[in-house]
Amino acid sequence: MLFENLNINKDIVKAIKEEGYIKPTPIQEEAIPYILKGKDVLGCAQTGTGKTAAFAVPILQNISAKGELGKVPGHISALILAPTRELAIQIGESFTGYGKYLDVKNLVIFGGVSQDPQTRALKRGVDILIATPGRLLDLIDQKYIDLKNVEYFVLDEADRMLDMGMINDVKKIISKLPKVRQNMLFSATMPKEILTLTNSILKNPVSVEVTPVSSTVDAITQELYFVDRKHKKHLLIDLLKDKALTSVLVFSRTKHGANIITKELNSAGIEALAIHGNKSQNARQLALNSFKEGKIRVLVATDIAARGIDVDELSHVINYDLPEVPETYVHRIGRTGRAGQQGTALSFCDVDEMEYLKGIEKLICKKIPVIEEHSYKVSANTKPLEGNKPTMKTTTAKNTGKSLNYRRGRNSR
Ligand code: AMP
Repeated sequence: MLFENLNINKDIVKAIKEEGYIKPTPIQEEAIPYILKGKDVLGCAQTGTGKTAAFAVPILQNISAKGELGKVPGHISALILAPTRELAIQIGESFTGYGKYLDVKNLVIFGGVSQDPQTRALKRGVDILIATPGRLLDLIDQKYIDLKNVEYFVLDEADRMLDMGMINDVKKIISKLPKVRQNMLFSATMPKEILTLTNSILKNPVSVEVTPVSSTVDAITQELYFVDRKHKKHLLIDLLKDKALTSVLVFSRTKHGANIITKELNSAGIEALAIHGNKSQNARQLALNSFKEGKIRVLVATDIAARGIDVDELSHVINYDLPEVPETYVHRIGRTGRAGQQGTALSFCDVDEMEYLKGIEKLICKKIPVIEEHSYKVSANTKPLEGNKPTMKTTTAKNTGKSLNYRRGRNSR
């Protein structure tokens, strides 16, 4: 299947090819024809599947086919809601890239920065608005934005919006949309609340499911290190001595943790920056750009800040802390191995995280292979006892200083 076979106009095909895409990904192949035909779509797809182009391409095509409407100030034809600024920026870049030969304007708005450039751009006229819910509501309240002409509505990463407590804002925004419109809802997981929302906003949707959340992207090699909490930093520093880890996203459960990890890495001579909600928008963007451009090898992030980080060459994801919510693990490791690239996800697990590990392995329906050979290995009883708190004991905790042999041991659990 080629993009040409999807009835996409030649200007968009040309731009897509310049992005380096050779053929559509499965979700694009499935969703684009339906969206072009005006159907509502429910996309169950995790990140890295090409879901952005799956909705952006047909929306661009339909809007550009209508001609000059975008020239009327305030005439917003498409609204894309995204949970984070990073994801919103990413989506905006995709629209700009795919639409570079079209006369269709997009604008990205999000909070945490001055609203003036955003309101000035709105006054100049925008066809496609990509927004985070809070700032959008703000600007609607101030009468800078009117959604009455919206024909296409996309709710991206709906499950993440739920996690972030944005669902009420989303509902408020939906109530301001015209009744007749085309809807697309994308979510990596479908918790009950999202299904309810889906039923209330989508009309006879076509369901497009690419990779179910429980089967993590095949291209990603997953490995697990049992390690005491106090040795995690040493293990991380040791692992990062391996230059094969070219571009590494380290996940910390907390913002404070992310700062500490970054400090530890910097004092070990490893250049790293942190990205999380307590950092200013400028600091976050600077860190992200330095990482994308390869100026720094390591970015330490919290889950929320990491949404929307799209780095084509991300070689490794390291779960310094295991996430409490199993689906978050899938979101995290989906940051690597994107669009068919190889990727590796390494996870550290200490005794207090055994329950989280159990939840993750249940969700992905497999045991993550354990790396037995490392300098901080924890042995003894690493196996969760039914109904009991597991016990772990460090046997060898000394750093040999030699480069590590990352041979995969047999999964003895
Ligand atoms: P997404 O799931 O939309 O975040 O996309 C993940 C990554 O895949 C992004 O880096 C896109 O640029 C890339 N991508 C999207 N569609 C294709 C395609 N058809 N071929 C190759 N890469 C793609």
